[in-house]
Order: sequence, then C-alpha cells, then structure tokens
Amino acid sequence: MSRVAGARAGIVVTGTELLTGRVVDRNGPWLAERLGELGVEVLDVLLVGDRPDDLEAALRFQAGRGVDLVVTSGGLGPTADDLTADAVARFAGVDLVLDEAMERRIATIVAGFAGRRREPPGGRSPARNIDPDGRSPALGIDTEALRVATRKQAMVPSGAAVVAPAGTAPGLVVPVPDGPTVIVLPGPPRELQAMWDAAVATAPARTVLGRARPRRSIHLRLFGLAESDIAATLREVGARLDLSRLEIVTCLRDFELEVDVRGGPESDAASAQLVEEIRARHGRFLVSTDGSSVDEVLAGLLTGHRLGLAESCTGGLLAGRISARPGSSAHLAGSVVAYSNRAKVELLGVPAALIEQHGAVSPEVATAMATGALRRFGADVACAVTGVAGPGGGTRTKPVGYVCFCARAADGRTLARDPVLPGGRADVRDRSVVVAMHLLRRLLLGEGRR
Ligand code: ATP
Ligand code: MG
Repeated sequence: MSRVAGARAGIVVTGTELLTGRVVDRNGPWLAERLGELGVEVLDVLLVGDRPDDLEAALRFQAGRGVDLVVTSGGLGPTADDLTADAVARFAGVDLVLDEAMERRIATIVAGFAGRRREPPGGRSPARNIDPDGRSPALGIDTEALRVATRKQAMVPSGAAVVAPAGTAPGLVVPVPDGPTVIVLPGPPRELQAMWDAAVATAPARTVLGRARPRRSIHLRLFGLAESDIAATLREVGARLDLSRLEIVTCLRDFELEVDVRGGPESDAASAQLVEEIRARHGRFLVSTDGSSVDEVLAGLLTGHRLGLAESCTGGLLAGRISARPGSSAHLAGSVVAYSNRAKVELLGVPAALIEQHGAVSPEVATAMATGALRRFGADVACAVTGVAGPGGGTRTKPVGYVCFCARAADGRTLARDPVLPGGRADVRDRSVVVAMHLLRRLLLGEGRR
C-alpha cells in the first residue's frame, strides 16, 4: 500500500515481563489504535526488556525509520530498573532536571497512598501523614527511601512537557532536535490510558499531530461469511471502482469477520460505495456497519422482550456473555444450565423418550429445550444449545464440535442450526455462544419459520 503523507509513529513498549510472555502487552495495541484514530500511521511496535541500551537502540531504530513520533510505555517507576526517562534524555541529548512542582505533587500522591494504607476509612487526611519532604517518623515508613523515589520520578528531560500522573509517575513529551518527538508514558495500562489525552494535548505533541491526516474509518462486522468470500468481493469491486486510496483490512476475530475501511475525506464516496456493494452481496451476514458488536446489536433488539436460555455444552457461558452488559436485567429472564439428561427432563420438560430416541445432542432435543425455556421463564424469546464440546464423547455421526442450536419465539417462529464447529473444547464452547447470539439476532430481526 502506498504511504500516505502525514505523521508517522513508532511505539516502544518496555518490560522484561512482557518479553518472557508472563504478561501480555496491552499498551502497544491500545496506542496503535489511538494513533490510528488521530490519523498517525504506525510503522512498528517494538517490545524491549528493561535495559537502557535496548531502549536506546529501539529509539534510534525508530528515528532511523524517519518517524515523527515515538510513544514509549513503561519504566517510569521509582525503582532502579525504571530507566526510561534517563534513556530518553540521552537519546534527546539533554540533561535530566528536577521539576520541583512535580516533586511536591508526587510526594502528596505518595503520602495519600501511605495514608490510605495505614488509616481506617474516614481517618486523618492522608496528606498530613507525610509532609511533602517525606518526613513522617510516626508512621515508621522509610521516608528517606520515599523521598529518593519521589525525586527520581520528578527528574525530567530538560525542555520536556510534563503530563500529570494518574498513578505516581508523570508522563513526558520530549521534543528531540532533528529527531522524533517522544511521548513517554507509564506501563500500567490503566495509568497510560488515563494520561493519553493530556499527553497528546501538550504543545510538542500537537506540533507533530498537526501534520497528521485523520482518516475516516468504517468498521463492518459480518458473521457466517468466509474471509475468502469477502476477498473475492473486494477483487470484483476493485476491478470496477478505484479503491487504491482506501486502506482495507479484513480480519477474523472472535469468530466474526471484521472489515475496516479507511481513507481520507477525498475517498468518502468510494468507501460508501464499497459498503453498499458489500451490503448488496452479503447483507444477510452483515451485523453492523458502525463497529457495534453483536452484544450491542442483540441488546438493542431485545428491548421489550423477555429472553430465556437453555444451555447444555455452554454451561452458562451464553447467559454470562449476555448478562455482562449493564442493563441486561431488562430483557434476560435467566438460563437453565441443563447439563445432564435428567436436568433436561426435569428442569426443561424435555421428554425422556425424545432424548432416548435422538440423543441429548440432537436438533429435536435443542428444539424441546428452547420450548422448555420459553415456558419455564414465561419468555417470548428463547435459545437452546446442546453439543459435543469434546475432547471425548464424539461419534462418527456426532463428532466433537457438533452443536445443535434452536432459537425460538413465543409465536412459534424457529431458527435452528446444527453445525460442526472447529477447535478444541474451549473453542467449541466460545464459538457456540457466538453462534447462539447471532441466531437470536436473526430471529429478532424476523427470520425463522413456524
Ligand atoms: P511505570 O512506568 O508506571 O513504572 P513500569 O512498566 O515501570 O510502569 P512495572 O512495575 O514494570 O512498571 O509494571 C507495572 C504493572 O503494569 C505490572 O503489573 C505490569 O505487568 C503492567 N504493565 C506494564 N506494561 C504493560 C503492558 N505493556 N501491557 C500490560 N501490562 C503492563
Ligand atoms: Mg515495566
């Protein structure tokens, strides 16, 4: 894809725990998304350990790539292995200087932590426990260590803009002569995210971001369509329509297909046309065109309805997912987790003979479970899931991954499916939840036969 003029960035995530695989990086993807929204093209996300040489090498690499901006995460803490401010100052060729106002501010925050640790709720004002110079003999805290730690975190590269801390570590925005501006943020994702807006609002960040070209983005979600089908559609449409100024990314995620279409204002018409072509060909599979998840779409469709669930192989996961949304009590009546045959009979009224005849994993039993859920919960919409999650229990006719779904409305409309889902036990169960949600979505959109 041809490079778009504008601002380009690199991301450097630090943390030895991330290199060992113990902790999964959450900052790189989050920053990449934010930068993308601002119209900044991200060239690389580098992950390095807590070693100053490696961090500097990463910064030099990014500078060599000609990026306008580097964002770093991690290594701003008070301990000896927190070396980012130092490394960035060296990279910028400037000294670290004490920011006294920041030192006082951090001291107050730290005193607040210490106060909360030692005082019952509603106790003394934390700020009074340790004064900003870190003296508090009464508490028995090593106040000298606190003072040193506080001062370390208040040392900032000369000329940097300082971003107020969300925890105790301030962020930094460091202009570098003849090099990329460096935004330095702490590692804990909650802190980094809380400080992002303030960091990009600083003068040096704005100078760079002013060159960015915000790109509009349309986010399509599809379900039940293969990636190859969308690829074929893109090829066909591309033969007639100039899509060269659009950046189109397709990605399979959580068993759904996402298509991201980005472009500058000049390509609005092309992206709108592309969306219409996709809608015309694959409308049945289109879940949303504004990025809404199936959870959001389904919650909207369930307004005014009462949903009852009957779950076997998902063991309550479907109810868990639907109830994860705040406000779900307005439509979710409940779920019967009927794992055993006896539970299916006694709790859902599935005829024992039906199980005998067709097996617990069968379209017939799924339908009877859905009917049972409608009745049991006095619901007007229900969904039942029964399947072979594996790894054992599969047969030639009902292999591992064979799952029967039935979505049913009180008016008798029914939508049923019995696919063989790929993957191991966890995949089959998770995927079953997604299939059930989409089946419900389509039932609520009016599909289904009596
Ligand atoms: P700070 O800059 O605030 O000092 P740090 O990276 O030096 O952050 P750590 O003690 O290394 O501080 O990390 C604090 C917590 O944040 C740890 O639980 C760590 O696993 C988590 N963390 C740091 N970086 C990331 C990241 N990129 N993704 C997910 N978690 C992270
Ligand atoms: Mg770290």
